[in-house]
Amino acid sequence: MTDLSSLYQDLILDHNRSPRNFRVMDQADRSAEGYNPTCGDQLTLWLKLDGDRIADASFQGNGCAVSRASASIMTGAIKGKTRAEALQMLDGFQELITGRRSGGDAGLPVKLTAFAGVAEHPSRVKCAGLAWHALRNALKD
Ligand code: ZN
Repeated sequence: MTDLSSLYQDLILDHNRSPRNFRVMDQADRSAEGYNPTCGDQLTLWLKLDGDRIADASFQGNGCAVSRASASIMTGAIKGKTRAEALQMLDGFQELITGRRSGGDAGLPVKLTAFAGVAEHPSRVKCAGLAWHALRNALKD
């Protein structure tokens, strides 16, 4: 279990160091801001939609390692997904980081389950959930 936890930690550190999809998106269809005053994390999320599908996702901002890695992994995970699939993933992720479900039960992509440990650190829940809150706002009609 220790090896597994450190593997997950490596994944978060790697995405913090070299965040994926970290860029301003020109001609985005949707965008949303996220701010977590508890930690000072802030980000902007951009989405390009193709009908009901998320064709592209990107973000920029300043924040702690957890918030940044979460946004990096999220933008990768939602690309190509429909709105409904992304919202289902969002709900599963919220349940994971608040400890209501384990990673396997939530049916989440493996990379997202790297954040399961956040459930043991309540102060980090808002950091990990920030990008996802922005996603919910960006997908609102
Ligand atoms: Zn934070």
